[in-house]
Amino acid sequence: MAGVSDDATLRMPPLVNAAIIAVGSELLTPTRLDTNSLFITEQLNALGVDVVAKAVVGDDRRRLIEVFNAFRRQAGLIVFSGGLGPTDDDVTREAVAAALDLPLKEDVQITAHLRARFAARGDTTPMPENNRRQAMVPEGAEVLENTRGSAPGLWIDNGEQVVLLLPGPPREMRPMLTALTAGPLRERTSGEVLLRRVLKIAGRIESQTDEVLQPLYREWLLQTPPVAATILAQLGQLEVHLTARDEARDRANAALAAAVSQVLEALGDDVFSSNGQPLEEVVGELLVKRGWTIGAAESCTGGLITSRLTDIAGSSRYVMQSVVTYSNEAKVTLLGVSPDAIAEHGAVSEAVALAMAAGMRSHAGVDVGIGVTGIAGPGGGTPEKPVGTVAVAAVTARMTRSRVFRFMGEREQIKFQASQAALDMVRRILLIPDS
Ligand code: AMP
Ligand code: MG
Repeated sequence: MAGVSDDATLRMPPLVNAAIIAVGSELLTPTRLDTNSLFITEQLNALGVDVVAKAVVGDDRRRLIEVFNAFRRQAGLIVFSGGLGPTDDDVTREAVAAALDLPLKEDVQITAHLRARFAARGDTTPMPENNRRQAMVPEGAEVLENTRGSAPGLWIDNGEQVVLLLPGPPREMRPMLTALTAGPLRERTSGEVLLRRVLKIAGRIESQTDEVLQPLYREWLLQTPPVAATILAQLGQLEVHLTARDEARDRANAALAAAVSQVLEALGDDVFSSNGQPLEEVVGELLVKRGWTIGAAESCTGGLITSRLTDIAGSSRYVMQSVVTYSNEAKVTLLGVSPDAIAEHGAVSEAVALAMAAGMRSHAGVDVGIGVTGIAGPGGGTPEKPVGTVAVAAVTARMTRSRVFRFMGEREQIKFQASQAALDMVRRILLIPDS
């Protein structure tokens, strides 16, 4: 990387904005997801570099050039991943060289290296000639070693922009980028860090929450360092993302911590996590704090609540036993729900959810019993109890809570929201001393 800090590059302003182009026609099909850009973003953010745009582009030279040229107007750093393979459909190298008007020359050292890699596989057939495409280097580019594959990466610095070409396979791309962020990329950034805190909120709607937080947003933007905020509506929860950028990590951290406390003050117990933890982890931590155990009697959630609780490592300390009681008969025989209650209120009712929770608690001998019964759809709804009607209950020795919800969405979304409502109900009980 000798050329990385020559005179021309030292005169360049620090890299502040980046754009990412994930290359590969397979990434435009429903079967493959671009995950590289998430890793790249995380690494760049840690250096204080903001990702301002990204794109997924198929293996098409003309389209790549178009997107590349558009992104060059927006960011000082352009990161490509993919399309560096030996076959005809891998065109990233050629597209970038053409857009920057740089001639491609074969780097004989790379060719020798590729031949050696090929020979080391014990194959007697010589290396196919199209592998030599991987040895083509745009004039002035630096070659980045690939410790886990054949395609070398490239670093091009034309005085205006830094353009990075990384291999597509995540296991090859990651170490290459990590080596750059520890060295040459870090030297080209402002030395600032960009830190992020993710707050998660239950039991509120987006517009109302945004209204409450608007005055804070304005205040945060005027302070040093400023804190930027975005609010996102997710299924069954809202997220507020806060970011701060500063040369001193401590100062960015302190600005975020102050903003987090202001949100906690404004939204209270509706904020269930201020460091990105999922609800099931928060509930698990609260259970551990009390030394309590839990069990869920699940109907329409089909075990999802228990599945989520047991996604957390160490959940065996508090998850004791759960049952999926889909039929009325199972609710009666396994949980002791009275057939009269079902006949009188219907299987989807607060009374039955409460009886399920209480039955779970006594049968499993746990501290907290959950009961959930509802209509996930698409069939089975009635005018009084349309699809999405879910009764949720939680019972402890001293407290019972229950509520009927009306969720919107498809079957899976209703199941998730029901599990979220049950876990949140338990969380709120656990926040009350002596519950
Ligand atoms: P390539 O360098 O284009 O030959 O990429 C080879 C393989 O890497 C692809 O078949 C994918 O499995 C994987 N890959 C490429 N780009 C990405 C990406 N953006 N995110 C995740 N995997 C990727
Ligand atoms: Mg490809």
